[in-house]
Amino acid sequence: MKQFRNTVIRAGLGALYFSGAYALLRPILSGVGAIFMLHHVRPGRDGAFQPNRHLEVTPEFLREMLVHLRSNDIDVVSMDEAHRRLIDRNFSRRFASFTFDDGYRDNRDFALPVMREFDAPLTIYVTSDFAEGIGRLWWIALEMAIANAMTIEATIDGTACRLDAATPAAKQNAFDRLHDWLRALPEHDLRREMSALCAGHGVDEAAICRDLCMSWDELKPLSADPLVAIGGHTVTHCNLAAQSGETAAEELTASRARIEAALDHAVVHLAYPYGDKGAAGAREFALAAAAGYRTAVTTRPGMVFAENAGHLTALPRVSLNGNYQNTRILPVLTSGAATAMWNGFRRVDAA
Ligand SMILES: [Zn+2]
Repeated sequence: MKQFRNTVIRAGLGALYFSGAYALLRPILSGVGAIFMLHHVRPGRDGAFQPNRHLEVTPEFLREMLVHLRSNDIDVVSMDEAHRRLIDRNFSRRFASFTFDDGYRDNRDFALPVMREFDAPLTIYVTSDFAEGIGRLWWIALEMAIANAMTIEATIDGTACRLDAATPAAKQNAFDRLHDWLRALPEHDLRREMSALCAGHGVDEAAICRDLCMSWDELKPLSADPLVAIGGHTVTHCNLAAQSGETAAEELTASRARIEAALDHAVVHLAYPYGDKGAAGAREFALAAAAGYRTAVTTRPGMVFAENAGHLTALPRVSLNGNYQNTRILPVLTSGAATAMWNGFRRVDAA
């Protein structure tokens, strides 16, 4: 299903490009700006099994995007400035904001140098347990476990399963199956199942976070860089909508307090972990505002419209997806046509 959806999207984006339809749609779809969502930025890697590849783009692709924005006279702004323009209703110029989730070290090593070439600001949303070195990046642990395995055994919804993982294609199928199952589990069940998978396939789950994420000591100088803003991304990277109201509120306030204490900078911007409708809805939007965040971004696809000023803790984003790193896609992404296909041409989706 995932593969099918990717194929449709790829064909759809390509069709939009070649037909030139995105240019015709631009006046009604483009909105006042876009908030781009990125995770890893690093050189491409070899290997047929890269199930998390959608979460990484190359420094070259990031540079091409910035060149494209500059040549279209679109301002690249911080989330502070995006917020200001929204509340001031200052839409005389289109804007783009770059946001990076989770706090990966490659953001500093590969994304920041490219952003600096353009004097372009960025926001990095930090999960405080990741900076602490005690977080669990289960989707990467799952990739590593499957990469090591010829078969994977798991009890999925009460049924003992033995999944083939001998070839890259089989590994991808196993990943999709296990990812969908794990993603829907309550937090403590997810942790238990991942611990078992990691133990069974020689993966040091605790090391992943320290290998990939910036520590407080690394974040401190980064947060002092005038181009960089650090935002919040909860304490544990949990699905907030699946928590009690009390726990969700605590995730939002405690992570903010932890980051502010460690970095001595105010934290006023938030990204919801996972960020889709199943992870962030009306309750979370209200909790984020109550916790003092000025803006909060989802992973709901869409451009920013003037109406979003009334929904500052439910902002949509445009994913820079590693599966579509093709310069032909750039004008489609900035036209709003790509995300409009996803959200049924609704301008604001904040319910
Ligand atoms: Zn995240």
